[in-house]
Amino acid sequence: MLKTPSWYDESPCKGRDRLFFSSELRDRMVAKRICQYECPNRTECLDMALRENMTIGVWGGKTGPELARLQNA
Ligand code: SF4
Repeated sequence: MLKTPSWYDESPCKGRDRLFFSSELRDRMVAKRICQYECPNRTECLDMALRENMTIGVWGGKTGPELARLQNA
């Protein structure tokens, strides 16, 4: 199981799983904007998502399918 990195505690997605793991496209687009414009940890988060093969939810400003494409590139 992935240990939560220390920077996650200060990230704007903390406690917002319903938005970041929503099945609604509109929610995922809102989550992506939060990553892009409000999170100081986006680079670290995207690196982690790619390294750990995370493909569910929004991480580092990318949706699960976008992450899967990057992992398979
Ligand atoms: S980049 Fe997005 S998912 Fe990652 S820590 Fe920041 S707000 Fe959360």
